[in-house]
Parts: sequence; C-alpha cells; structure tokens
Amino acid sequence: MKLHFIFVIRFSVLLLFLCINTKLYGQKESNLKKPKLIVGIVVDQMRYDYVFRYWDKFSAGGFKRLMNNGFFCKNTNYNYVPTYTGPGHASIFTGSFPAVHGIIANEWYDKKTGKMNYCTDDAEVKPIGTENSTGLMSPKNLLVTTIGDELRLNSIQQSKVIAVSLKDRASILPAGHSANAAYWFDGKNGNFISSSHYINQLPEWLINFNAKKLPHQYLEKSWNTILPIVNYTESTSDEQEYELSPNGKEKAIFPYEYTKQLKEGNYEIIRATPYGNTLTKDVAIAAIKGEQLGKSNYTDMLCVSFSSTDYVGHSFGPKSVEIEDTYLRLDLDLQQFFIELDQQVGKGNYLVFLTADHGAAEVPAYLKRNKIPAGLVDENEIEKKLKEHLFSTYGDSLVLNCSNQQVFLNHTKIKEKKLDLYSTQNATAHFLLEQNGVAETYKAEDLKNQSFVKNSFKALLQNGYHFKRSGDVLFRFPVAYFDAIMKKGTTHGAEFSYDTHVPLFFMGWGIKKGSTVESVDITDIAPTICTLLNIPFPNGCVGNPIEDLFEED
Ligand SMILES: [Zn+2]
Repeated sequence: MKLHFIFVIRFSVLLLFLCINTKLYGQKESNLKKPKLIVGIVVDQMRYDYVFRYWDKFSAGGFKRLMNNGFFCKNTNYNYVPTYTGPGHASIFTGSFPAVHGIIANEWYDKKTGKMNYCTDDAEVKPIGTENSTGLMSPKNLLVTTIGDELRLNSIQQSKVIAVSLKDRASILPAGHSANAAYWFDGKNGNFISSSHYINQLPEWLINFNAKKLPHQYLEKSWNTILPIVNYTESTSDEQEYELSPNGKEKAIFPYEYTKQLKEGNYEIIRATPYGNTLTKDVAIAAIKGEQLGKSNYTDMLCVSFSSTDYVGHSFGPKSVEIEDTYLRLDLDLQQFFIELDQQVGKGNYLVFLTADHGAAEVPAYLKRNKIPAGLVDENEIEKKLKEHLFSTYGDSLVLNCSNQQVFLNHTKIKEKKLDLYSTQNATAHFLLEQNGVAETYKAEDLKNQSFVKNSFKALLQNGYHFKRSGDVLFRFPVAYFDAIMKKGTTHGAEFSYDTHVPLFFMGWGIKKGSTVESVDITDIAPTICTLLNIPFPNGCVGNPIEDLFEED
C-alpha cells in the first residue's frame, strides 16, 4: 500500500514534470521563430488626428490596413522636450531620450567649440556618392545603440540593417552605428548618398536607382490635387494668407509647377512635394530587392522615414489642402510598399511599425480666427533684452548663445568675475519670466538636482536635458505660441499634446489585431521590438515593452 502510494506520487511528479517541460519546450519552439524583416516607418510631423481626419479618403491597403490588421496604440506620446526630428528619430530607435542619447536638438550650441553643431555632422568622414558636404555625416553624436545595432551585435553581424530617408538625420539616427548603411538625399545632385562611416562606395543597386533620375520625372509632372479640389472638405479652402508660398510663387495655391527649378537642376524642391515620399518609397523597395532583405535565416531591418510630410506641413499647416493631399498620396505609397513587402518577404513574415517623430502646432492665425489664444514670440528680441539686462547688472552680457529656448551662459566669465553660477542662472530666469511670450523658466541646476512627477512638463524637460550638452536656463512659450522666425506656416518642438501625441501601429509577424488607449511613451517602441525578437534592449533604453501587445485575449 505504502509502496503503491509512493509510486503514484512519483508518477504524478513525473507527469507534472513532463507537462511543464512540454509547455516550456512548446513555448521555446515558437519563440525561436523570428520575423524575416523588421520595417520601422516614421512619418515626419504626422499628427495623431490625421489617421481619422482623412480616413474616408484612404485606400484599403495603406493606413486602413495598419488599423484593420494591426495593433494601434492610440495614446502614444513623446516623453521629453524638444519634439524635433533629430531627437524624435533617435528616441524611437534607441528607446532612450535626449538626457541619455545626447541628441538634444537638430542643431545645438557646442560648449567646447563655441559653434552650432548639427546632430549628424561629422567632418572626419568622406562623402560617398557626392562631392558635396551633404555627405559629411555620421551617427557619432548619438551616445547609445539602436534596435539595429543590437540586432547586428546579437547576430554576430549576420542581420542586415539599412535605413533610407530624404533627411540625413532621419536615416542615420534610426540606422545607428553598426548598420550596413544609411542612405539620404542630396538635393544638389538629385541622388541618394551615404558616407564613409558606413560604406566606401555606393552599391550597384543604388547606382542604378540614381541613374533613373526619378526626381526629374516626378517633378516634371507638377503637383495638382489627386482628387477634384472640391472634395477636400476636411481642410480649409486652398488660399490662406498664413500659408508659406514655396519657391517664390505668388500665392500658396494649386497647381505647383517646377519647370524653372528643373532647368536649374535644383532637386531640393522635391522635399516639399508629395513626390519626396514616393521617391522614398521607391528607394526603400529598391533596397529590399538590392540588399535581399528578409531572405536569410537572420532577421534584417529596414528603417524608412517619410520626410515630405514635414516640409509640406511647415509651409501650409495641418488644415491645408496641401497637407491633406500629401497624406492621401502617402497612403497610396504605403499601400504599394506593403504589397511589395508581401511579394518580396511574404505576408506575415515581416513586422512593421509606423509612428511619427513629432506632431505639429495649429497655425496661430488659424486659431486666432477661431477666437482661440495663440501667437508668435520674437525670440531674438528677448535675447537682445536679456543681454542688455545682464550687462547692466554684471558689466558683461554673460550670454554665449541663445537657441532652442535655452540660454548658454559664459562659465569662464562667471568664474573670472567671481559670480555664483546658480545666482546668475536665477537672475536670467527671473528676467526672462518678465518678458511677453515667456510662460515658464527653468534653471539647469534645478533640472540636475530635483525629481519631478513622471510625464509632468518639468519631467519632460528633464528627460530632454543633457548635463554636458544643454544650456543654463531653459524657457518655454505659452501654449499655442511659437518662435516668430516662422512668420507663416507652422512648427513643432513643444511639450503639448499637439506636438507630443503621435500615431503608433504594429502589424505583421507576432502582432495580434487590436488597440489600446493605455499611455505609451515613445521610448517603449524599441524595447517592444527587442522583446518580440528576444534580443537585448538598446544600451541606453529607458522604456518598457507595451504590455497590451503581449497579453493573450
Ligand atoms: Zn519639422
């Protein structure tokens, strides 16, 4: 009896062990399968509301395919300021923010050299595919790894990582340091180029692509609305005095012709047309074919950033016919891109995510017309007054630079004059706060020493503050105000929802259908992708995997 009891116990334990083991083994088996290709798409300046605003006019295979077949994180926000392109792209692909990854703006004052420093400038490299300085670029200012870097490290360099965009920073920062290549557009020669950081010569497939002279072919067509203009009921009427008219055209109205610029060989203009996105889609498809992405046993990665939405958005604003038309055409480009991915890599074999690097403010003139408080602030005038004030107080202006709403004080002079750094920061902050157009000021010492409630405006500022690169006093404009340097059109950069709230979709391999309204930080994208791939998070990652994507229904 006793022996029988022991046998039953032993048998049960064995059975339990086998069950657990089978379950674990089963899970491990399925986890070992990896997607063939990760496609990280960024739409420059895409506001969250565009998904719904233009919904009825979208095709079945672009944004609607993402929404209907994928997972939509409806409450995704930037968790730092400033919301610019350089920091945005860096944060999406590193899961980190400027305080850690170091990309504090598109361009910032370099305390060591005393000059403005562009985020991807690198004088040490050689341009590839151009003679122009447009090729003097690398990710050297990015202090951490990207998803692509981790893929490369984890696969002992077997995974291929490629990035394409019109903008250098929107290609280089997503790609990261160890990518096979980042390619961007040189408007002077109309070609996609790179730098010696990545490669020594352009690959054959890109030489052939450039030889097609697609920018010329597209611009020859001129730009008119894809639908009859009366159908653009989601936008204001075409002619608005606050829209910036491009290329010296008298009025910012359709159609836009480029004959004169084409004669001069100026291909820069393609940036502020929807054809810039079509060209980006074309080069992305050429890269998939040319590099044989998604064809090996290792997961490859392609980063694609559509920049024309930003150039068009800056000029015409979120309620313009021009931006609506740009999104309707981008939707068709996405549709074709997904079809191509289905054919080249196979439906369900690739994992796509799509988000934006920041949103955009409404044009202040448009808000004012609707009786909503808004306006422009003359930052130059504020800087001038600040210098005069500090000069009259300390006998020296003490200001080295004022940019990106940060004041850089002269620490050497402060020491020479035996002044206290904190009290000079304090005097600067107090004076700034008295000026029209300044809503709040923050002292660097406080950002360094205090901790703030998560995702409060102060915490966002702290997440964007890099101890070595950022300034001494930071200030912000009132809600719906921005720098008067943009006399027409719009911009972005603030901590408010119109700039921080962006769409985020996942679709394809390992992704269930659904949506969430839970709060997602932009820094959660990279750890989510890395968790799906079972690879380490990028080394400066501050985010977490998005739980809703992993919960079983
Ligand atoms: Zn922009």
